[in-house]
Amino acid sequence: MPIYEYQCRSCSEIFTKLIMKPQEENGIECVACGSKRQKRLISRFSYQKSEADRMAGLSNDRRDDSYYRDTRNLGLTAKKRAQELGVDLGPRFEETLEKARTDPVKFLDESSKK
Ligand SMILES: [Zn+2]
Repeated sequence: MPIYEYQCRSCSEIFTKLIMKPQEENGIECVACGSKRQKRLISRFSYQKSEADRMAGLSNDRRDDSYYRDTRNLGLTAKKRAQELGVDLGPRFEETLEKARTDPVKFLDESSKK
């Protein structure tokens, strides 16, 4: 169940949409103006596909050290759960996650200063 990002061709609103079935992509309405003219944006996260694979392979009971050493796995469980529940975490969540994954030390440092 990928989450895609769309931009409205009428009002330029950008929003994300969870797509369960390919045919749901037809008739997506803009959240701001209701227009059905959308374009799908290229994901800012190039690892989208492999992330989906990671999620599919996620297991709750067995994780070895390499799982925790790989910063790309950060937040994956929370995200998977949110997707299962149909919750849209929004771009802010992705942003935060991306920061944590790219530079965990800096991210934790910044977080602790707040
Ligand atoms: Zn619109």
